[in-house]
Amino acid sequence: MDFLPIFMDVRNRNCLIVGGGEVAARKVQMLLRAGAKVQVVSPELGDTMQEFNQQGEIEWIEAGFEPAHLQNPVLVYAATDRQTVNQQVSELAKEKNIPVNVVDTPELCNFITPSIIDRSPVVAAISTGGASPVLARLIRTRLESMIPAAYGHFATMAAKFRDQVKEKIEPQHRRLFWEKAFQGPIAEMIFSRREKEAEHAMGEMVENCCKAESGEALNGGEVYLIGGGPGDPDLLTFRALRLMQQADVVVYDRLISPAVLDLTRRDAERMYVGKERDNHSVPQDQINQLLVDLALEGKRVCRLKGGDPFIFGRGGEEIELLAEQHIPFQVVPGITAASGISSYAGIPLTHRDHAQSVTFATGHLKDGTSDLNWQALAQPGQTVVFYMGLKGIETITSKLMEHGLDPNTPAALVQKGTTPDQEEYIGTLMTLPQIVQESEIKPPTLIIIGSVVTLHDKLDWFHPDEQRGNDPRVF
Ligand code: SAH
Repeated sequence: MDFLPIFMDVRNRNCLIVGGGEVAARKVQMLLRAGAKVQVVSPELGDTMQEFNQQGEIEWIEAGFEPAHLQNPVLVYAATDRQTVNQQVSELAKEKNIPVNVVDTPELCNFITPSIIDRSPVVAAISTGGASPVLARLIRTRLESMIPAAYGHFATMAAKFRDQVKEKIEPQHRRLFWEKAFQGPIAEMIFSRREKEAEHAMGEMVENCCKAESGEALNGGEVYLIGGGPGDPDLLTFRALRLMQQADVVVYDRLISPAVLDLTRRDAERMYVGKERDNHSVPQDQINQLLVDLALEGKRVCRLKGGDPFIFGRGGEEIELLAEQHIPFQVVPGITAASGISSYAGIPLTHRDHAQSVTFATGHLKDGTSDLNWQALAQPGQTVVFYMGLKGIETITSKLMEHGLDPNTPAALVQKGTTPDQEEYIGTLMTLPQIVQESEIKPPTLIIIGSVVTLHDKLDWFHPDEQRGNDPRVF
């Protein structure tokens, strides 16, 4: 390690900045956030510094740097554009054992400022020892996406309850208590900014732990009903990923791509309850019951479903039983197939010149077709997306034509959308059944009907034409 990582208390302490430009101003900003008293030595001030000065946030010493300015600061930044001045500040400060940083000149520094993620009071700092601030910033960006913004509120809440937990919960259960609080429903309340509710629940959790055997009270399971999106793991939400990585059991079905499943916790138990068309390998009511049973065993259960759980996902049915049994659960929305696939196929679902509305319909037709409003679906000026429509394609297309939709209306079939195996078949309402017959199209395939499909030629960024060449699958 080239530098000792420490966090320093500079509240109400004098910190000196030599230089009045924008670089110096960025350092001032950081010091002010940490509550420091900031003195700036410079013959003139740049715009930002002038603002600080007008608002009384800094003390401006209108002069060139002199050794006398190093009377009492607890640390010094040199950020002038004159290297000789920077060097002099560095040497004098080192002589007096005052920590000094010369911006962008590691050899003149005896401390460096890291790249930070500020979720105060939680602060994470990243340093490359001065080797590459850009790399540090890149790492910071990656970490930032993994540390939810609400982590700060979380630490504040923990501080509020620390003494109470110490007093009331036996030492051997404390760690479990905090783990549960950091990862369970209370944490979720804080993440979604329901702080009052979270505080109340936290108080209750402490009380419950005192009343019952602490260990027992901490054992409650819960269920996360998570939308895993249409296939590309990049389309998961932060919340989905976080919960996928903390669950003890993952219950998933056929639509979950291997790449998404890969992101669940390594040591989690995985249970496949896959659904194939007309061949539900585990009946729905058994899945509903399974979720209840696992949660009652104290497990954190990730019920991972393709797309969005509430769009043709039977998510509502799965949580009904949980709600009845008072098992804590939450629902995480996912990118539904229509959204993901239309983006990846370059087919905007609405467009000012083509479609003023969009309808998602199920093509899984129960004995006949009476349950869809064909009249409405056949109206022009809209886009209609059929989920689960492959098997009923004959019926779907003929019903739409029967109700007046132009047989030449552009239409697309997209198989395994958003995955590396995505295939697009472009035709018209009339030719769709023939395409399905002649190609080996398999589920999952989405059907998009409407003149927006003509935009595909121009807007397909995922499979541009040059790559596709003369692919015979394109009709
Ligand atoms: N809850 C899911 C839909 C489940 S119904 C969602 O919101 O997306 C299953 C149907 O969704 C499939 O028959 C298919 O029509 C569509 N689908 C889901 N993922 C798909 C994909 N990657 N490519 C094409 N169609 C998909």
